[in-house]
Amino acid sequence: MPELPEVETTVSGLRQYVEKATITDTVFHRKNIRYPLDKRWINEMNGQKIVRVYRRAKIIVMQLENGYLLWHLGMTGSLRVSKKDEPKRQHDHIECQLDNGKILRFHDPRRFGYLKWFSDEKSMQASIAHYGIEPLSDAFNADYLYRLSRHKKQPIKNLIMKQEIVVGIGNIYACEALFSANIRPQTHCGKISKSRYQKLVTDIKSILQQAIEQGGTTISDFENADAKPGYFQQSLSVYGRTDKPCPQCATPIASITLGGRNSFYCPRCQK
Ligand SMILES: [Zn+2]
Repeated sequence: MPELPEVETTVSGLRQYVEKATITDTVFHRKNIRYPLDKRWINEMNGQKIVRVYRRAKIIVMQLENGYLLWHLGMTGSLRVSKKDEPKRQHDHIECQLDNGKILRFHDPRRFGYLKWFSDEKSMQASIAHYGIEPLSDAFNADYLYRLSRHKKQPIKNLIMKQEIVVGIGNIYACEALFSANIRPQTHCGKISKSRYQKLVTDIKSILQQAIEQGGTTISDFENADAKPGYFQQSLSVYGRTDKPCPQCATPIASITLGGRNSFYCPRCQK
């Protein structure tokens, strides 16, 4: 599933090809993906310049001259730029021809991704208002987590994965960051000291940043629709490694279900 680093990598890869380009022709190959695709949007989009591309949570926001396109990659989606003569592949559901000769293509075999159109900033902002702060922003810090967690018994892993609190920390990153910070995923968040939160926040940021940088190395292949982002290459210390030795102390990695998600930790390194 595309996580925040992959979405960030997609945005920085797209930027150089689509920013300042004008959409000349749009095709919806289906009536719906996760949500319906309204053919009336095509008239709105065509002829419009893409002013800016940015990420909010795991959403790719494209600001056009007359509105906003919000793309979500869902479970299996990707948004890529192809050369004009590159044939459409199966599961390429949306194609936007650009005036620079490129084609922007949304590809999604399982169709959990979506496209939404907003003609004004206010309604676009309202649709994403429920999201919490960005993990790579200065607002995400030890004070923030410490303050939010007092008198709470919620497991720390559930807290940092709660999108209303902080966005884009998926299961893999939550497990790996908690390992790095030596905190067990099931620890009650209200019992964690500020200094341990300090370490956790630093580790979350650096793990995400590292994944973005590794993903960035694939950007030169961005026109290759099959290019995979770099986070798969990251070595995982605990995630998916039940009964395998901890890379620090060789104790077998344990697993537990929290908030319906598999959670992995080292019973010796993490307290
Ligand atoms: Zn260990």
